[in-house]
Amino acid sequence: MSVQKIVVLGGGESGVGAALLAQAKGFDVFLSDRGALKESYRTTLQQAGIPFEEGQHTEERILVASEVIKSPGIPATVPLVQKLREQGTPIISEIEFAARYTKAKLIGITGSNGKTTTTLLTYHLLKTAGLNVGLAGNVGDSFAEQVITDTFDYFVLELSSFQLDDMYQTHLNVMVLLNITPDHLDRYGYSFQNYVDSKFRILQNARPDDDFIYFVESQPILDELEKRNPVVHQLPVSLEKAVKEGGYWTHGSLITTNKGRSFTVSQAETTLRGPHNAINTLAAILAAQSMNITDDAIIAGLKTFQNAAHRLEPAGTVNGIQFINDSKATNVDSVFYALSSMDAPTIWIAGGQDKGNDYSQLDEVVRQKVKALICLGVDNHKLVDYFGNTISTIYETQQVTDAVAKGLELGQPGDIVLLSPACASFDLFKNYEDRGNQFKTAVKNLMHDL
Ligand code: ADP
Repeated sequence: MSVQKIVVLGGGESGVGAALLAQAKGFDVFLSDRGALKESYRTTLQQAGIPFEEGQHTEERILVASEVIKSPGIPATVPLVQKLREQGTPIISEIEFAARYTKAKLIGITGSNGKTTTTLLTYHLLKTAGLNVGLAGNVGDSFAEQVITDTFDYFVLELSSFQLDDMYQTHLNVMVLLNITPDHLDRYGYSFQNYVDSKFRILQNARPDDDFIYFVESQPILDELEKRNPVVHQLPVSLEKAVKEGGYWTHGSLITTNKGRSFTVSQAETTLRGPHNAINTLAAILAAQSMNITDDAIIAGLKTFQNAAHRLEPAGTVNGIQFINDSKATNVDSVFYALSSMDAPTIWIAGGQDKGNDYSQLDEVVRQKVKALICLGVDNHKLVDYFGNTISTIYETQQVTDAVAKGLELGQPGDIVLLSPACASFDLFKNYEDRGNQFKTAVKNLMHDL
């Protein structure tokens, strides 16, 4: 039998990892990226002797593939991908490919918001308990590369809808669905239902004794569960009511029950704040319980967890005013939760590239928490128009340093200045990390200047 040809489209972390795994498993591999490769990835491919191209897609070399591994960044609508589909070439994600080569138990985590936080926390809980666990998906090192030597017993995987779209057979032992709110609709034919269907692919291979953890106050999740009625062990997470099996938040306590085993911790004992993080933490605790982690290890993990940067990250206190960097909040829902987490009058820095935002979800929380709005974007008219009648002080700027200085000027000791933009960052910054880093630097400079 001739060697099967694997073509990898996209040479980022996941694509290069997939190429390495494919080579290790004896496939004939070719990697193609329409853009430029990062230097380190180019070197890796060269050293491994894997043929690749960049700056173009050569169709003759791609259409001969027996199977294509596509980067989640490439839309299914690009002509090359459509051609492959038309000729019947299977297209899969790196996750799907890698999952074929691991015996590890898999925990898959998806949702419109909170994926990274919940994935990192779940990983941290398992690791603190001494399990031999790997971290992959949208965060960290490529899953494919990590299964070349399949040494982990568990993997915690952050799964975006784009990865789920190209997954078919992967069996997840624990599935987490945090919420579904409109996002990325440009990739789903502007149909919310298509996006919901994509998220629900997480359940496609669920077995009756697998665990499905989901946020029960997400209406789209509830509606869909009613339609589908999946046969799987369901563990709902609620912020509003007690549940028998699953988790809930009441009077600052997080309470979970998974297969009859109960656990309680005060959120104050954990390192994460706010109702959205109550959801994330409950989901992570339930996943840890599914893996039989002891209560002591869960408590120890919750106390020592450090979240990734740019998610409600303390950036410093100047003149008694706390600055918080939530640059990762690039949609309205995440800002809703960020503002809900604020326990003092808040000067809110928002703006950037609008993604078709509907701000009405914020009406109430803005009335309760926000004393001033600083718009940080090239075009702020949507924010200014929407909040002009509710927020008495609105200021516009295109400089982070200016936004931070204005925050200090408007603030009283005890207040909070929160960067939580609700928008993409590309109008003024390279990405959300760049925006968050510039914000943190500006705050540090203020601290030194005073
Ligand atoms: P993702 O990986 O899904 O983008 P992150 O954990 O990076 O999620 O968080 C992104 C933003 O969403 C943060 O600004 C955070 O404040 C907000 N967020 C986190 N968890 C939730 C949640 N469960 N529901 C709504 N918003 C959330």
